[in-house]
Amino acid sequence: MGDFNQTVILDAIRRSEQGLSRVELVSAVGLAPQTVSNIVRRLLDSDLVTEAGKTSGGAGKPRTTLRVHAAGSYAVGVQLDPAVTTSVLLDLMGTVVARRQVETPQGNDPAQVLATITAEASALLTESRVDRERVAGLGVATPGPIDKASGTVLDPPNLLGWHHVPLGSALASSTGLPVLVEKDVSAAAAAEIWVSGRRSTPSFLFVYIGTGIGCAVALDGEVLHGVSGNAGEIGHLVTDVSGPPCSCGQRGCVAVTCTPRSLVREAAGLGLTAVLPPDAADSEVTAAFLDICGAALAGDEAAGRLVDQAAARTARAVATLRAMFDVDHVIFGGPFWAPVSARYLAAIPALLAGHPVAGERPLEVTGTVLGEDVTAVGAACLVLDRALGPRRERLLLQG
Ligand SMILES: [Zn+2]
Repeated sequence: MGDFNQTVILDAIRRSEQGLSRVELVSAVGLAPQTVSNIVRRLLDSDLVTEAGKTSGGAGKPRTTLRVHAAGSYAVGVQLDPAVTTSVLLDLMGTVVARRQVETPQGNDPAQVLATITAEASALLTESRVDRERVAGLGVATPGPIDKASGTVLDPPNLLGWHHVPLGSALASSTGLPVLVEKDVSAAAAAEIWVSGRRSTPSFLFVYIGTGIGCAVALDGEVLHGVSGNAGEIGHLVTDVSGPPCSCGQRGCVAVTCTPRSLVREAAGLGLTAVLPPDAADSEVTAAFLDICGAALAGDEAAGRLVDQAAARTARAVATLRAMFDVDHVIFGGPFWAPVSARYLAAIPALLAGHPVAGERPLEVTGTVLGEDVTAVGAACLVLDRALGPRRERLLLQG
């Protein structure tokens, strides 16, 4: 029970704005005063919490306030995106203390990508001069599908040449750190939970705008992972029954109506951009996509209509998801969120407010406050969570 109680106490301290005294901890976590005192001693000895002044609350002796020691533990988070690899170092309070970004090696050789992640993680630790002993682990957020239990990347449509790559075990041996592998969108949602961690246990949808469109569901402060860690595949939700055919056999799926590639294809059909071959490289698609979004922002009406149409289709998918999961907040983010964010945020709230499927309760629609690093930050948060936070599966184990 010792370890579990320790994570409960550390989590309670982490979530308190002003810190907590031992007496306040006893009432917050419901453990015996002697148990709390022993565990606090252990946390102080291991530098995970620190004593931060005394408060005198009426009668009795002054109480010592305990706060989390931000530099007591760290985690590395990496987002492996087909185009760029972003790495961050997070301290125990969730603050980004170092960051790096490089182009992801192109081609179809996972070994090159593994070498890049290993080098980036190492450079991050060297530059920040953090004691390796204090690094709880490395979290990697990758395009799915994955096998979460073994840390294997299966056959991601957006990573050419990857087939059952044991990302977790390979990085564990190359970095010497414990490694956790997570699907990109689930990692992004984990970061949002950390940000709102002091508020309570949030429930929301995270809609990920990347090379593909994905979704994560957080209910009562926990991300839903699914049996294999691949929950949130919304690519084949139909948003437009008369839309273009999809590889799945349906018409008008999210995958062919809401992605950057589909937007570029439609723009080419209208003569707004050059026609790209079906196997055009991601970089070409990205450049054309950014051009269209830029034109829309600059007032080009045809480009604006295209982006708004993608927003409307996305809103249809979100309406269904909202009805399924009964959340009151939708957060958008991901590598291609920024270029569409202004028009999406202008259009989508009104579309959802009047939508017959979405339900009547108000639905808050926002962009991530963590910007383009949200996914890498989330991968690091998951490492800290695993190392330090009380989680449902531990409760079950203890029960
Ligand atoms: Zn489909």
